[in-house]
Amino acid sequence: MAQPLRYNRRERPTIPLPSTPHRVIAVYPGSFDPITNGHLDLIDRGARLCDRLIVAILRNEEKEPLFTIEERIDMLREVVRGYPTVEVDSFNGLLVQYAQEKGASVILRGIRAISDYEYELQMALMNRRLSPAIETVFLMAREEYSFISSRLVKQVIGLGGNIAGLVPPSVEVRLRSRVLDGQ
Ligand code: ADP
Repeated sequence: MAQPLRYNRRERPTIPLPSTPHRVIAVYPGSFDPITNGHLDLIDRGARLCDRLIVAILRNEEKEPLFTIEERIDMLREVVRGYPTVEVDSFNGLLVQYAQEKGASVILRGIRAISDYEYELQMALMNRRLSPAIETVFLMAREEYSFISSRLVKQVIGLGGNIAGLVPPSVEVRLRSRVLDGQ
């Protein structure tokens, strides 16, 4: 019969553990134009893995967003109100530089399908090269949200489709008035 492994305390090998930061601060960057239930699920799960989660909207002049940064910040703040360790911010320029300024050691990203993987891998490797101390952590999308993207939600509502359950209710209201009523 196999004997259980026993070892004397004093004999325990002393393998140096990698130094872990005392408090884990993570940055979850994205466009969030607008936030979907897929993003929200990632925030919910990501918040459990760190002490502080900063949801950071990239100020990207090249993309033509449906909602302004201020509107997206408002929508995000509203839906993460129940999460005491989650905050919302926006940033310009290099993500790793922003993360460093915030004292973050983790970048949080989501993977929905293989199609996300290639882009995400490239970004993660580039960010590692720029700042080796920052780890990109990927969470797999929840099955029921894995087909949701902000782009698709905007398209569907624009064509008169039902988006209930794809975005938080407050975001659905804003989408309706922006896309259907042009406000
Ligand atoms: P970006 O413009 O950087 O892709 P997004 O706002 O579309 O920004 O997404 C930000 C992050 O959230 C990305 O890592 C993306 O893969 C992830 N994400 C987007 N939609 C979902 C979803 N439905 N489930 C899980 N992760 C998602």
